[in-house]
Amino acid sequence: MSSSSNDKKLTDNPYQMALKQLEETAKLIGLDPGIHKILSKPKRVLTVSLPVKMDNGDIEVFTGFRSQHNNARGPYKGGIRYHPQVSIEEVMALSMWMTWKSAIVDIPLGGGKGGIICDPKVMSKLERERLTRRYAHAISDIIGPYTDIPAPDVYTGSEEMAWIMDTYSTLKGNYVQPEVITGKPISIGGSLGRTEATGRGVGFTVREAAKKLNIQMNDATVVVQGFGNAGQFAAQLVQDQGAKMIAVSDTQGAILNKKGFQINELIRYKNENNTVKGFPGATEISNEELLTTECTVLIPAALENQITKNNASKINTKIVAEAANGPTTPEADDILYQNKILVIPDVLANSGGVTVSYFEWLQNLRREYWTENYVNERLDNILTKAFGEVYDMHLQYNTNMRTASIALAVNRVAEAIKIRGIWP
Ligand code: NAD
Repeated sequence: MSSSSNDKKLTDNPYQMALKQLEETAKLIGLDPGIHKILSKPKRVLTVSLPVKMDNGDIEVFTGFRSQHNNARGPYKGGIRYHPQVSIEEVMALSMWMTWKSAIVDIPLGGGKGGIICDPKVMSKLERERLTRRYAHAISDIIGPYTDIPAPDVYTGSEEMAWIMDTYSTLKGNYVQPEVITGKPISIGGSLGRTEATGRGVGFTVREAAKKLNIQMNDATVVVQGFGNAGQFAAQLVQDQGAKMIAVSDTQGAILNKKGFQINELIRYKNENNTVKGFPGATEISNEELLTTECTVLIPAALENQITKNNASKINTKIVAEAANGPTTPEADDILYQNKILVIPDVLANSGGVTVSYFEWLQNLRREYWTENYVNERLDNILTKAFGEVYDMHLQYNTNMRTASIALAVNRVAEAIKIRGIWP
């Protein structure tokens, strides 16, 4: 990418960004032009119109989507988001990224994504339930345990997944089919370890990156932007490896303590006060200061587009581990690479979530339950292997870890398409 207006245009249109990424990868690996054309488009995108009776008796009609990008390696897999800004381009891009994510960790799944244009924050629980069941009904013919397995995403959670499982099971033979969806409550087939999986995966990939760079985790300092689900568990995991978390933030503000925070005390404080701000013994700093604090590992775990061309040259760390999706813009990526900062890209760093979703699906298909230790051990094996493969690829192609991870994925998907052939 050459200019900042390009940077902006691409980050504003996720599908164009996904296509550009695929194009660059195709050039790098010499991808067959035909396969490139196949991968440029989702196999199917369904748009559905969803009439819902609201609590006041009015009828509202919502629009929902399900994009199925590629299933050459296994059933489509990907979350469903509820947000006023959901668009068809966004779900198409996200479904392509899910294809890459599943392929990077080498699990037998493809890529899909869904969404509904709505504002769940202003809806009652009953309205959300009616909307969710209507959506499940509308997409029921294209999802299924062996075809497309949705999961939670922005502003959806285990409650919505339970309604979808119930609606689908009732519609399709009226027997329990937990394997149609993941991210369910434990009582109806959810997996132990799923809540912590994303942060835990970030911890595993940081550990592997530190080994490659000869960094002793006992001497490492960590900065975390966004102390939510992913950020808290990632922080806990790196602290368990001996590192010290010296700065952290949430929507209310950022705090610094060079001596290091006790993560469990900070979690308790955040639960009581709804923010980390005001934590005893800490100094308040700005979000910009937080991102540029000198540290060994920087973990963006909040929002997209946080590391940009404006602050990338001031980032003072050895490893950036992207717990959040898309925290680094393409221009910033180039600057970090020039400055020899190792970026563990989102598609690898936060893939613990989709990996444990895969475990949930396996457990459901076999009607069995795994212990949390077993889940964590298998997650560790998968992410350690994936990290090593991406790292080798980045050396082999002399490129950054993001391009290397997409290259690894595209190679795997392309091979599956070639071997299966095109029919009919
Ligand atoms: P969350 O809502 O639990 O936590 C987000 C945290 O970020 C909150 O503490 C919030 O206060 C903070 N935050 C928001 N805006 C901020 C800002 N401007 N500055 C500093 N902090 C800010 O969400 P989460 O599930 O932890 O997800 C965080 C990121 O990780 C998202 O990008 C998400 O897509 C990605 N992710 C999460 C999962 C998962 O399983 N939870 C999986 C894959 C990717």
